[in-house]
Amino acid sequence: MHRRNWFEQALFSAMTAGFTLNEMAQPKLIAQDARNSSLDSGKLRITNIKTVLTQPSSSRLIVVKVETNEPELYGLGCATFTQRARTVETAVNEYLKPFLIGKDPTRIEDTWQSSFVSSYWRNGPVLNNALSGVDMALWDILGKRAGLPLYELLGGKCRDAVDTYRHASGSSFAEVTESVNKFMSEGYRHVRVQAAVPGLVTYGARASGDVRSDLPENNRPDIWEPRPYVQMIPQLFEHLRQELGDQVELLHDVHERIPPILAMQLVKDLEPFHPFFVEDPFSPEDVGYFRHLRAQTTTPIAMGELFNNPNEFIDLIKDRLIDFIRVHLSQIGGLTPASKLASFCEYFAVRTAWHGPGDVSPVGHAANIHLDITTPNFGIQEAREFSTAEQDVFPGCPELKNGYYWLSDRPGLGIELDEQLAKRFPITDEPPFSLQWGNLRRADGSSTKP
Ligand code: MG
Repeated sequence: MHRRNWFEQALFSAMTAGFTLNEMAQPKLIAQDARNSSLDSGKLRITNIKTVLTQPSSSRLIVVKVETNEPELYGLGCATFTQRARTVETAVNEYLKPFLIGKDPTRIEDTWQSSFVSSYWRNGPVLNNALSGVDMALWDILGKRAGLPLYELLGGKCRDAVDTYRHASGSSFAEVTESVNKFMSEGYRHVRVQAAVPGLVTYGARASGDVRSDLPENNRPDIWEPRPYVQMIPQLFEHLRQELGDQVELLHDVHERIPPILAMQLVKDLEPFHPFFVEDPFSPEDVGYFRHLRAQTTTPIAMGELFNNPNEFIDLIKDRLIDFIRVHLSQIGGLTPASKLASFCEYFAVRTAWHGPGDVSPVGHAANIHLDITTPNFGIQEAREFSTAEQDVFPGCPELKNGYYWLSDRPGLGIELDEQLAKRFPITDEPPFSLQWGNLRRADGSSTKP
């Protein structure tokens, strides 16, 4: 029967039976009420969401706490966008919280999907970090409720511990060598190496006397020139291979701050020294160069700490143009999208190397490690020591031993937050912190990518 004819016939039958159009809509309303009343029948609910901003070490950390109507049952998630902490705080408190209060915290996927589109405009670092804070907290709640560590809910361990790398930086080749030797003596097998370029500020290592003293203190640009850097880094690798041999795995982060053609030359020049990977050779705006780079060198490539949107990495993965995905879990929206990304990478032999520097909270590191330990195509995890203050504020920080991260069997993420102690480490809001990235300049005074 034609659809309209069917409707007209039903309408005619109803009206001749004495129903009004308004009454015909009632069954739908009743179904809606039934759904609402089942939601209000004493099941688990989100009762409060709050942000905790704290700075027990150098980075401003943002942690989201999701509370439920079950006594003592709550979750923690990392929402750390350290450069714009107050905007994430607002996104959680003013927008996500009223949207999610009263909802079922066990509906993790549905919460992610509906929250993601709740602003209509989406995929940016502020909203993604806010969403990550909630998402990780819901996974934490699920684990605590089940009495199981999160890794069991993610499919169980693929390995006993998580292999890591640390950062060796120095103002000279000798300092870098000494730092690598120190990490190797502690059991590390992978070390990222960065060295200062004389007279310039360099990512990961700062040369002395590299700020312009003729400008006000809070407005001094750091001077950066790409050519001396791309000439020096192959010399650093040659030096390290001569001093350290071939056993230690060496990594390097270009930090996407040089023109693509120079990055291609640099990655080719490093090939004889067999880096474990070279990270972020291009900026996210220049991903079209990866196809050309792949044709030029077999040096393994890691990419992605600035990625926000799946469309930034899907083609790089499916076309096998990178070897490691480097995204920052909270930057793409938390554990839910990162777990899918890891599985997507598996089909293309791309390994994971989640971002794990100081501006990932201990809660975020715990999320990284739960995912690492359950991911068959895990590659390596960027690691850091947690300061004594961080360990006090976040009881249950992951442990580093012999170059591996180890997880406890505590339920959920296995990490706690001492909110009272966190208040003793308030975040710093004033410059120069917020000016750091935007003040990077070429020698002629022009702005350049950080
Ligand atoms: Mg990096």
